[in-house]
Amino acid sequence: LVRRMREFGTTVFATMTKLAVETGSINLGQGFPDTDGPARMLERAVEAVRDGFNQYPPGPGVPELRRAVAEHREKWYGLAYDPDGEVLVTVGATEAIAAAVLALCEPGDEVIVFEPYYDSYAAAVALAGAVRRPVTLRVDAGRFTFDPAELAAAVGPRTRAVLVNSPHNPTGTVFNRQELEAIAEVCRERDLVAISDEVYEHLTFDGVEHVPLATLPGMRERTVMISSAGKSFSVTGWKTGWICAPAPLVAAVQAVKQFLTFTAAAPWQLAVAYGLREEMDWVNGLRADLQAKRDRLIAGLETAGFGVLRPAGTYFVQTDIRPLGFDDGLELARRLPELAGVVAIPTQAFYDNVSRGRHFLRFAFCKKDEVIAEAVTRLRHLS
Ligand code: PMP
Ligand code: GLN
Repeated sequence: LVRRMREFGTTVFATMTKLAVETGSINLGQGFPDTDGPARMLERAVEAVRDGFNQYPPGPGVPELRRAVAEHREKWYGLAYDPDGEVLVTVGATEAIAAAVLALCEPGDEVIVFEPYYDSYAAAVALAGAVRRPVTLRVDAGRFTFDPAELAAAVGPRTRAVLVNSPHNPTGTVFNRQELEAIAEVCRERDLVAISDEVYEHLTFDGVEHVPLATLPGMRERTVMISSAGKSFSVTGWKTGWICAPAPLVAAVQAVKQFLTFTAAAPWQLAVAYGLREEMDWVNGLRADLQAKRDRLIAGLETAGFGVLRPAGTYFVQTDIRPLGFDDGLELARRLPELAGVVAIPTQAFYDNVSRGRHFLRFAFCKKDEVIAEAVTRLRHLS
């Protein structure tokens, strides 16, 4: 394995899911729902296969999906993107992120990431031979946020891009306008590209609104907006994502993407186009269900003795393990199957400054009510 990839090993998600399977534990680690997406959308995928959509689709993606993505952006956010040239379909958001970083960053360029960060960000930056500059999200008034001065100070002469993720995995923070404006200001002043991962765009709670970075003044022209069907429609295994950006940025990302995967699988694209057009009511229902699941898991974790940080979005809850008498989340995550028959994610896996994430554990609540109920019953044994 090349030197620049050696620090990464196996992803924490694969490791913890394997642990859950081996120990027969309830898996509240890796974030994937245990129920299916909208039935008619699933049926569309089957029909697409039956109807012969089984050969290479066009490189930028099936036109129906590119149009559906553009219509969705216009309808939800008032953002206009041309489906021919400003939308590119990718193999999940993961490919979109990697292709964007590879397309836009020269070796030695710096990329700002907010830590804790989604694990593929660091690997994508390393693959490009670029350097990550973490800005730490810290807990303030019960939510993770950043200090704008720290963000500004992280920008140097080699900074090329800021990787933004809101709603944010793994903290559940949804950046508000003020936070987004602080990011936008730095991007405009220092001429940076924003790579904006918005895969949880529809999973926000308590009436909190997701604001796409590209809607801020001067940002549409410098933002690569990324999303995916996995979270919105509970089809994480479909690996169908997309970017929206000005044509020159899309052309750059496509220049890389064509040699990573050339194109994304055809049948899912037709089904997701249908989902974006016809199943947004279902997505709103999912959002309401998830909010109730969040509240159920939070209540259970609090009863079990965890310190709980209430997320405004995503399907993850951060907990502080210190009230239970534990100190190291990595150690507790490894022992949790034996102590309680539950698997969670050690949040420190997402930090460069590991000590800052040491006492956090992440639990996923995108699970059936009875699974959440059983998990919290088991976790009561901890105290
Ligand atoms: N970004 C974030 C923040 C995620 O949590 C995930 C994982 N689901 C992804 C990107 C990857 O999305 P996809 O499965 O569409 O590649
Ligand atoms: N996004 C999911 C999570 O954060 C997992 C994705 C993966 O397994 N790579 O749990």
